[in-house]
Amino acid sequence: MLPQRSKKISIVGLITPFYLGMLKKMRRAGKVVKMTGSGKEYFATNLWLATVLNQMGYEVEQLCEINGEVRPEHITGDTVMINVYTATANKCYALAAQLKDRKIIMGGPHIAHYYEEASRHADHVVVGELENVIDAVLKGTDKRKIIFGEQVKDLNSLPFMNYGLLDFKPDFVRPFFSRGCNHHCSFCDIPTIWGEGWRTSSVDRMVGEFKSMAEYFGGEVPRVDFMEPNWIASSKRIREFLQRTRAEGIKIKHMGADCTLNFINDDELVKEMKHHKITLGIGFETINPVTRLQKENHLSKTKETEVYFDAIKKLQDQGVWVHGFFSYGYEEDTPHSLELIEDFVHKSKMNSFALSILTPFGVSPLGQKMRAEERILSENWDFYDYLHFVYQPKSMTAYEAQKSFNAFMIKYYTPLKGAGKMVQGRVREGFKHLIMSAFFNKLQKHTEPYLEFLKNGK
Ligand code: SF4
Repeated sequence: MLPQRSKKISIVGLITPFYLGMLKKMRRAGKVVKMTGSGKEYFATNLWLATVLNQMGYEVEQLCEINGEVRPEHITGDTVMINVYTATANKCYALAAQLKDRKIIMGGPHIAHYYEEASRHADHVVVGELENVIDAVLKGTDKRKIIFGEQVKDLNSLPFMNYGLLDFKPDFVRPFFSRGCNHHCSFCDIPTIWGEGWRTSSVDRMVGEFKSMAEYFGGEVPRVDFMEPNWIASSKRIREFLQRTRAEGIKIKHMGADCTLNFINDDELVKEMKHHKITLGIGFETINPVTRLQKENHLSKTKETEVYFDAIKKLQDQGVWVHGFFSYGYEEDTPHSLELIEDFVHKSKMNSFALSILTPFGVSPLGQKMRAEERILSENWDFYDYLHFVYQPKSMTAYEAQKSFNAFMIKYYTPLKGAGKMVQGRVREGFKHLIMSAFFNKLQKHTEPYLEFLKNGK
């Protein structure tokens, strides 16, 4: 039976069935509680939406599936806004089908690519940024099915993220002070989602929000995960921000952000990092020399991996934790590319890394190319999770590619290595390693039917 409904707006974020299954297992083991302290999670995009709607005077509730399965009977709002990622699209559509008596509005990354498809499952879909259009949709004065949002030109005009709208005090904050990116990496859908160009709020605005967070959280800003695709798109800006937070005595537990290495020659910024606790997630993406030369990022255009090693060391000398991001499945990639990545990770002494499978989302350059060349193998969105080969790679079969990816991750994340780290006193690192080991073992089983499909298909 559905609960009594109110005029409130329910904001829903779902996760893939695979992650939900993993989380259930972890929660049973009490591990999530240990990982996040409070044991509760939230989607930053949903909290952001709640912040905007709350400022407009709407009552909102947030349902984040990381904290437990979201079923129709949990949703009390008259209007339901669903944030759709491609890998959760099937689940979002299924949930919407069970909420026929509500007004359904969909937004999120998947909508930027597939708004016509999504419009068959919702009363409205909002493509792109919704701050300037959502009020009219909620009031019913904008009745269009597909609504193209407008870019917010002045990010300083936006409110501070309102953490008071969560029903718990989080152990981490996820603010953003920029949108979009000036680069156009072929595999990336950020330019599709956020539109052309990079926009940013002022350093004053950033510092102001950090002061406000420090006050809200009792004197120290907890762990910060910047929700920005390229945090250091301007080294001058981040240098000023870090210098200001230090000069003004704003306490910040830890900052984590994604960026390219383009800032590495700004010695003043790199030295300033010594005064802060920082993790940088750096998109190396590929170690394959041919592919690297085609990349846009200027550091990638060097043939010499030593340039990267020097950059990593330079950051680590200032106490920065370097986390590398790599993707597998570029045109020149073969299973040997995985050995190159492992060798690079080892020699560079980076602190940690993540490897994902290239995924050809809708109208991203990669998606368009794969469609034009008829290399898409599956359009089941459940598999668009960076863990499945959904297209035909050029230099290996999809079966070979998937099998080698699974085998590599299982070989890398052995329980023994995790236990070894814990014995060395690197408890958190070892613990994460053990979780990754369990994750990829489960993934191996999870992808067995998909591997069969690839084996028989190609
Ligand atoms: S630099 Fe990063 S965010 Fe920007 S387009 Fe490339 S991958 Fe995407």
